[in-house]
Amino acid sequence: EIVLRFAPSPTGYLHIGGARTALFNWLYAKNRGGKMLLRIEDTDRERSSDAATAAILEGLDWLGLKWDGEPVSQFSRVARHAEVAHELVAAGKAYYCYASPEELTEMREKAKAEGKPPRYDGRWRDRPASDAPEGVRPVVRIKAPLDGETIVDDLVQGTVRFPNKDLDDMVILRSDGTPTYMLAVVVDDHDMGITHIIRGDDHLTNAARQTILFNAMGWAVPKMAHIPLIHGADGAKLSKRHGALGVEAYRAMGYLPAALRNYLARLGWSHGDDEVMSTPDMISWFDIKDVNKGAARFDFKKLEALNGLHMRQMDDAELCKALIETLPYLENAEALRDGLNDNVKAQLLAAMSGLKDRAKTLVELADGARFLVAQRPLPLDEKATSILSPDAKAILAKAKDRLETINDWNAENTEAAIRALSEDESIKLGQIAQPLRAALTGRGTSPGVFDVLAVLGRDESLARIGDQIG
Ligand code: GLU
Repeated sequence: EIVLRFAPSPTGYLHIGGARTALFNWLYAKNRGGKMLLRIEDTDRERSSDAATAAILEGLDWLGLKWDGEPVSQFSRVARHAEVAHELVAAGKAYYCYASPEELTEMREKAKAEGKPPRYDGRWRDRPASDAPEGVRPVVRIKAPLDGETIVDDLVQGTVRFPNKDLDDMVILRSDGTPTYMLAVVVDDHDMGITHIIRGDDHLTNAARQTILFNAMGWAVPKMAHIPLIHGADGAKLSKRHGALGVEAYRAMGYLPAALRNYLARLGWSHGDDEVMSTPDMISWFDIKDVNKGAARFDFKKLEALNGLHMRQMDDAELCKALIETLPYLENAEALRDGLNDNVKAQLLAAMSGLKDRAKTLVELADGARFLVAQRPLPLDEKATSILSPDAKAILAKAKDRLETINDWNAENTEAAIRALSEDESIKLGQIAQPLRAALTGRGTSPGVFDVLAVLGRDESLARIGDQIG
């Protein structure tokens, strides 16, 4: 059985890099008919919080990355971690170390003076228990191999070799009995039956140290895939400006979960030239061996374009539902949110096919739909103001006369009436449509003006036109 895990530290929201790691784990698990478990790495009590855990779960939920089983709290397993550390001591594979803080500082400074990385010199490795100083609580250190190399056969990075002389006898249990991160990860991965680890390549050196621990316990080492980190569009480390935000920020910006999944999947993985991919397609195509080694670049422009393509692929009712469900979280959508009622919902659906052609995000969609809830007399944007010149208002008055004669109010009949006006008076259609749009929506752009007339209905349309004629 294939078992993966996503193992976030609950020290903040689910950021975009973590979301992509979760996605790759999830896609691989789904592709292989396996499971993706969730482990909350909350052993750092000062930096971890329940609020962050909740935000991570909500972020995964919104992104549609459902994990299997109950989330595992790493902290709840500290007794088990300590037990393993003591088993290793009993088996002679780990030992108590009584080195004082002063001694450790000295070792560090010596290494620094020699230009070497800080390294524990193994001074308690072979000392008899009878040497133990009284009243000192020891740490437990692993007996790391002294020569040769530790090899990580990585599914993305290939064979990576670590000379053992660079890997010292790391602490696995602190003097207060709490496990170090390295021990906790290995014990949990083993106990949870993890077969594959997919995570950021910033954990590659940890992989070597964890391999030493797996070997010391005689446990099988899970297959590992260390995926390249995400960089900004300019190649620099991902910053907030570049998109290093929590997934909830992407929801607020109006991106669809399916589009974000599609975009994130393609950050480091690709399937031929396929750009727009459905989630079932990604699941059936995903393979770790197709993940690139090079850093991926996050590009808002591409995400936005992809989101627009996903929106256009949805049918109107589906997109309408997505917009309404997202409204409480959407930025710059207060007007539509506050004005939403059953009538507006029906209008929204009717206007959707015209609206979605002009929007790449749900925020833009909500903005385009604002005219539905605008209160008379409508505020005019700059373009609408310039369109509504005295000449245009005179044309608007004529249009109003024609429209008032219509009994059966719909897009076809309003169009026929306006076309008749255009022909009778030799006025270009655009010269009538533009002021109509400005009066009906308060803006220079909108869905087709006859659709707008139909959606707003007879009374509201004529009233809005009347407001501009004075
Ligand atoms: N908790 C670690 C992190 O958030 C992940 C550890 C792992 O995947 O092994 O970076």
